[in-house]
Amino acid sequence: MFSKLFNKYLTNDFRFTSEDLQFRRVRMINCVLPIAIFVLFVFSFVAYAIELYPVMVSNLIGGVLAFFALYDFHKRHFVFFTAVLIVAIEIFVLLSLFWFVGFNHYVLVWIVVVPISAYFLLGRKGGRIFTFSFSLMVLIFIFLNYANWETQGFTNVGLLNLGFSYLGMILIISYYELSMQEALKNLERKNHELAILSITDSLTGIYNRIKLDEILFLEISNYRKTGKDFAILIGDIDFFKQINDNYGHLYGDRVLKEITQIMGETIRETDICGRWGGEEFMIICLNTQIGGAVFLAEKLRLAIEDFSRLAPHQVTMSFGVAQFEPLDTIETLIKRADDALYLAKKRGRNRVEQL
Ligand code: GH3
Ligand code: MG
Ligand code: MG
Repeated sequence: MFSKLFNKYLTNDFRFTSEDLQFRRVRMINCVLPIAIFVLFVFSFVAYAIELYPVMVSNLIGGVLAFFALYDFHKRHFVFFTAVLIVAIEIFVLLSLFWFVGFNHYVLVWIVVVPISAYFLLGRKGGRIFTFSFSLMVLIFIFLNYANWETQGFTNVGLLNLGFSYLGMILIISYYELSMQEALKNLERKNHELAILSITDSLTGIYNRIKLDEILFLEISNYRKTGKDFAILIGDIDFFKQINDNYGHLYGDRVLKEITQIMGETIRETDICGRWGGEEFMIICLNTQIGGAVFLAEKLRLAIEDFSRLAPHQVTMSFGVAQFEPLDTIETLIKRADDALYLAKKRGRNRVEQL
């Protein structure tokens, strides 16, 4: 119960999921802001107690801004805007702290929070810009106050230690962000490749049955919403087994590729072609009624017959055509196209039938 509520908060009502590239930033914003609000109010109280009133005011302003940033983030969900706001609040609070406190109380150690949050929240480029500007402002501050620092308990060596450890930390964070960005980019590219691979037939390069099924499913729900007609063709190469037996499997593969090419050249842009099975292809004709689909099947049949007229073995193809009817499901539509194909085979092959 508590962990669900916590997750709901961390993900802005589950608006962001772990698949979002922004996800780790969203969670960090949701963690950093409450902590910042708490720390800033505690320190404004401390500043009040030790009578550092300007610091008390700047911490209060920072706390209120952080509170509004969190409120706004859960209202508008702007990741980049909130991230910039957080870093800007940090810089404002720290610079005013250095300005009013000087080198007392080791306040300079707070410089570490800016690069860490800037690189993490804004990525490498944003992190670099904010860290560089902030570091420059701190350096100017140090030189302006150079005269006071030994009286305030700071030594040159102490400052060098702080400076170099700060630089080391920035380099490490910067490298971490770079490697993270590269890893994420690679992951994204691999995911994209896998997504394409999972819907592509490896031999012919066209859609496979998984994708055809998905498109049919989408078209049916589209039909139910808009009433747009669509039809399917199932084409099956005639006597393909003989082609394999007589000329070898590799030759058969070549025929499959050639037929794919002819189909690609013959269909319209709104027709979707895929490999349905071994030597069977399916074409889904969007915005098409049975007449248009039969016309296309006939065109394909002639193109295939024509291309192999002079080949050692003439290749022909039979087609079954069906249009989606209001009471159809995917199964009944495919069954009708299959039955039509069976009819075409029975009636002598190299022909088109519709049901
Ligand atoms: P029909 O006219 O009745 O369709 O006869 P057919 O010989 O085409 O039908 P059958 O179903 O008997 O044979 C289909 C053949 O397709 C058998 C199988 O070896 C071959 N086949 C399926 N997938 C591939 C493939 O990827 N490459 C090759 N070369 N052959 C394949
Ligand atoms: Mg077959
Ligand atoms: Mg066949």
